[in-house]
Amino acid sequence: MKVYDLIIVGAATSGLYLARKMAKRGYTVKVIEKLPEEKAGTKMDIFHVTRTDFIKFDIPLVREGDPEWAFEFTDNHFSSPSNKYHINVDAETVGLHMKEYVALMAKLAREAGAEIEYDAAFEEFTFSSGAISGIRYSTPDGIKEDKCKVAVDCSGIASAARRALPNGYGVENFRIEDEDLLFVLLRYARFDEEQMNTFWLNMKSWYAPFSMDGKEKIIGTGASGSMEKVRREAEKLDGVSSHGEFELVKTEEGATPYRRPPYSLVADNFIAAGDAACLTKPDCGEGVTSSMVMLDIAADVLHTALKQGRADKEALWDINCRYNRAQGAEFAMVRAFLTKLINTVTDDELEYCFRNRIIFNETFLNNGDVTPKDAIQTVVKMIGGISRKGVSLKTVGAIVSGARLAFELRTHYMNFPKNPEAFPVWVSIAERMWKKVGKVK
Ligand SMILES: Cc1cc2nc3c(=O)[nH]c(=O)nc-3n(C[C@H](O)[C@H](O)[C@H](O)COP(=O)(O)OP(=O)(O)OC[C@H]3O[C@@H](n4cnc5c(N)ncnc54)[C@H](O)[C@@H]3O)c2cc1C
Repeated sequence: MKVYDLIIVGAATSGLYLARKMAKRGYTVKVIEKLPEEKAGTKMDIFHVTRTDFIKFDIPLVREGDPEWAFEFTDNHFSSPSNKYHINVDAETVGLHMKEYVALMAKLAREAGAEIEYDAAFEEFTFSSGAISGIRYSTPDGIKEDKCKVAVDCSGIASAARRALPNGYGVENFRIEDEDLLFVLLRYARFDEEQMNTFWLNMKSWYAPFSMDGKEKIIGTGASGSMEKVRREAEKLDGVSSHGEFELVKTEEGATPYRRPPYSLVADNFIAAGDAACLTKPDCGEGVTSSMVMLDIAADVLHTALKQGRADKEALWDINCRYNRAQGAEFAMVRAFLTKLINTVTDDELEYCFRNRIIFNETFLNNGDVTPKDAIQTVVKMIGGISRKGVSLKTVGAIVSGARLAFELRTHYMNFPKNPEAFPVWVSIAERMWKKVGKVK
């Protein structure tokens, strides 16, 4: 039986990105995908990537006229609940068709030498001396088995491989529960008049384009826990925003993880990545390129480890260190702060913050480079807001303690242990902090 260097479970944006990268470096890579090839990448139509990400991640530059390209835009606005105050956030963004993009990535992975087997669903691991040595998967022709040095879970929310890990193997095998998901309803709408690209934090709703025509917008609404909650939020949006008549072109429903990733992303001969590892951005739930940040690290560490003939937990540990000390720390901070903010602030308070440019200003939303001076000024403005009855003492207290907790989490992740021995103590401290953060209501 052939022993692959890598078997990747899931042939979508994460799996194919890693497959192409590792195959280009000369490793033998097999990807299994439970869907038939013509269904791959059909979970949604449109997703967004910023222009700079194409270069950063060496993704082929997609241009107008290419089948993957849908539209481009630069302007985006955060809106106050009443729609009266807006903060511009500009980024050159490209809208891509997921199905066509996944097909392109599959083509590139194959050209680099990776094998992809469709209609092949992960079932279980095989082990040798207690460590993963391969996988079994079901196909229309029955159960098959392949051997590998490393198995990588890129199966999305299903987390098919990670969840099949034995307890205590080294990566948590939790199910991503409904309360850990941001459910999303997308209504593709054709308006009578042009509409601005807008995001309303209080309703977790937005207008985003689906073509270059300013009258064609996706009305997106998200909520954690259930599609029922999303529909209620969508009704709220329809009630307050001033959007005029629109013709409904189509609707889509989906979900994206909104929880902390597993504390360790690696175990002996195993890596968890993409949505299966909850690597989505905490401010919007997008996960295509945030997953690539981790996969770039994984590819480098794998290269070093495999060259030494190793793929044990210790040899892969640097994936944890490098990821958690950078993007992992930033995401932990933002997730903690936003969870506290969303759960506490009322619509009236949010309106007050927009009007007085507290938190909702270019410094916080545009460049993200928040200095201690900015933070102190914000606290002073909020305290001023208490006396003017713009924000309650309870909300200010929750925001200040949320910010403190967020910074502590960031520091804790930046001190991610260099080796697995110190990991259990690090986890117990992180666990206490995440308990204080709670879940988005
Ligand atoms: C409505 C919506 C809009 C979004 N918009 C954006 C956006 O604009 N930009 C952005 O960056 N992100 C966006 N996201 C998030 C983004 O879609 C995900 O973060 C990203 O697609 C995750 O990619 P992945 O490859 O890790 O997982 P997935 O895309 O979920 O792929 C997992 C693959 O594994 C396969 N699989 C599952 N189980 C098995 C099994 N047992 N055996 C074999 N294969 C299996 C699946 O069929 C699938 O092909 C959005 C999400 C939603 C829901």
